[in-house]
Amino acid sequence: IIASQLVVPDEISVNWKDIAGLDYLIQELRETVILPIQKRELFADSRLTQPPKGVLLHGPPGCGKTLIAKATAKEANMSFINLDVSLLTDKWYGETQKLAAAVFSLAVKLQPCIVFIDEIESFLRTRTQHDHEATAMMKTQFMSLWDGLITDPTCTVIIMGATNRPQDLDKAIQRRMPATFHVPMPSDTQRERILQLILRSEPVAPDIDFKRLASSTEGFSGSDLHELCRQAAVYRVRDLAREEMAREMNENQSAQNNTTDSDEEYVD
Ligand code: ATP
Repeated sequence: IIASQLVVPDEISVNWKDIAGLDYLIQELRETVILPIQKRELFADSRLTQPPKGVLLHGPPGCGKTLIAKATAKEANMSFINLDVSLLTDKWYGETQKLAAAVFSLAVKLQPCIVFIDEIESFLRTRTQHDHEATAMMKTQFMSLWDGLITDPTCTVIIMGATNRPQDLDKAIQRRMPATFHVPMPSDTQRERILQLILRSEPVAPDIDFKRLASSTEGFSGSDLHELCRQAAVYRVRDLAREEMAREMNENQSAQNNTTDSDEEYVD
């Protein structure tokens, strides 16, 4: 199960160039996450400069959190495990316990490695008295495995969580994620950059006005913009396909007419 969620650096298909409008965030990630991995001997020297073992990306859906997590792994030459939290919550406790231990042990084997957990709050939300006993034990086990990484200065495994609801995260989890980044809804300028990136190798009209497109898509996330461009591209191809079909039908029709004409001549 875990192997199917694992991507080694060579197979990660995105990098910084696939992210538009978030240069400041990329710079922060370079300094906070990547530099300590690449220059581990310098950072691991003191307890005060330990690289973060937990990173939280928070912000509205579709604004690039998964993209950023994958690109960070690619740029830092780290393996990437995309941990589907439903695997840790759907199964019987004994199984999830083994699975959680297996994820951490695989990550350690593959280090440097990022374990990405989307919607981390759904699994590690604030504990309540109403928590099912198995859920509470799962969380405790997860945190103790995580602490194993934190206390080992030589370990280069990072748990990178993403959430739209950071306020729902357990405080104990928040403390384990000292590096926290907000990935916001894109501004006008950011939407302009994202549109330029999405359409960079598409056959767009020479007079396309990216500024106008950006200002008329207020409230769109990066994912919405991608969907908008996809639909526009599909409409264009459909138009072309329709025109081509109509042309082919006309050609067939006139070929048929010619055949009928010549048949008639033959009969005569
Ligand atoms: P969710 O919270 O729903 O999981 P997310 O924040 O993880 O969403 P992604 O899955 O990373 O969002 O982004 C979805 C898609 O939107 C990307 O694959 C990409 O096509 C596009 N996208 C989003 N933000 C950007 C951006 N800043 N630059 C380029 N593309 C973007």
